[in-house]
Amino acid sequence: MKQSSLFTKTIKENLKDEESINAQLLIRGGFIDKLMAGVYSYLPLGFLVLKKIENIVREEMINISGQEVFLPALHPKENWEITNRWQQEENIMFKFKNQRGKDMGLGWTHEEIITPLVKKFVHSYKDLPVYVFQIQNKFRNELRAKSGLLRGREFIMKDLYSFHKDEKDLDNYHEKAKKAYFKIFDRCGIKKQTFLTYASGGAFSKYSHEFQTITPYGEDEIYLCEKCRLAINKEIIKESNYQCIQCKNKDLKIKKAIEVGNIFKLKDRFSKPFDLKFKDKNGEEKIIMMGCYGIGISRLMGAVVEVYHDDKGIIWPKNVSPYLLHLIRIEKDKEIINKTDKIYNDLQKEKIEVLYDDREDKTAGEKFSDADLIGIPYRVLLTKKTLEKECVEIKKRNEKKSKLIKIKDVIKFVKEISK
Ligand code: ATP
Ligand code: MG
Repeated sequence: MKQSSLFTKTIKENLKDEESINAQLLIRGGFIDKLMAGVYSYLPLGFLVLKKIENIVREEMINISGQEVFLPALHPKENWEITNRWQQEENIMFKFKNQRGKDMGLGWTHEEIITPLVKKFVHSYKDLPVYVFQIQNKFRNELRAKSGLLRGREFIMKDLYSFHKDEKDLDNYHEKAKKAYFKIFDRCGIKKQTFLTYASGGAFSKYSHEFQTITPYGEDEIYLCEKCRLAINKEIIKESNYQCIQCKNKDLKIKKAIEVGNIFKLKDRFSKPFDLKFKDKNGEEKIIMMGCYGIGISRLMGAVVEVYHDDKGIIWPKNVSPYLLHLIRIEKDKEIINKTDKIYNDLQKEKIEVLYDDREDKTAGEKFSDADLIGIPYRVLLTKKTLEKECVEIKKRNEKKSKLIKIKDVIKFVKEISK
């Protein structure tokens, strides 16, 4: 992508009306735009990041046998009355009437849609287990939406629902999902900062599991056992007697964190009201056991920025960066232009993701500070000086020193770092 043709621009100054770091940097870098509190547009650079995260999540869900669907966001009241959540969860759902006076709402979660859907197809033990997921917009009438992508009123979630013949099968899958989640956080570069956290299981289970990423501006507080790499959330810390659930260690560290995902054993909470049953081997009817597994895709993008930035801008982990390379041209010399164009074309041919700052109307200083703000992991620069040595200068976003690489070896070098 040539930066001269990117329709968005960066913003130099700090934004007065954004409190959170992720919103500041993502808006200033031209990744997202705020339409209103908690509602954002994804611009070309931001959309690339979002798709990278989505694809990591998608691959890991397919790895644990998830089948992808896309469910409606517009829901009829009837489904929500069956579980009593139309009234009970009054404040979270955006509700309205259509032109004929029929009550509807925007989906903030999808148990009420997926359960009757699965009921249409699953009848026998032979049809089980089933794992269905989607990556879709959710709508929530959140009271406070000042944390940028961390808390949206419209946001993007991956939600997987699992259906089992018994609790044991549900338990096994729960463990599998846990592992898949850590793979996702690892691939997104935040495994080190992310902790399995015990939370309340509601009425159906002793605990549920949250995945909390430590950041100074997280909305939650967790009690972390550094030995077990496990945490306990605020809700249940009293219940656990201020001890680690695993090793009973009392030396827990209080940390600010943001919940990037959670997994929950729903058991029969939804299958019961929808009468979702199956016939077992003996022809006996049994209730289906369910689990749900959420990841806030857009929140994850915000969390990555909260974890990886400095005072100049974002520092994207490689796997979720919009591009691997930021090729920069700062001299107007004809030979430099031609040679940098050639490097760009060669990289394009090799399908290497590169943003090429070919803008004519920007100073070197402006280009470097834009590159720092946008935060692509590697900056590549060709100048008259480096050309004398037949080299380009390559600098990592998170390192001060740069190194020279022979122009003819650039592709080889890039293939090495992109592994
Ligand atoms: P929270 O306690 O932060 O409100 P939640 O318990 O309501 O989260 P779930 O309903 O389980 O969250 O949703 C699954 C995932 O979706 C969460 O783990 C989180 O990553 C993400 N998520 C929830 N609410 C929002 C929101 N308003 N904006 C962005 N992501 C969200
Ligand atoms: Mg919530």
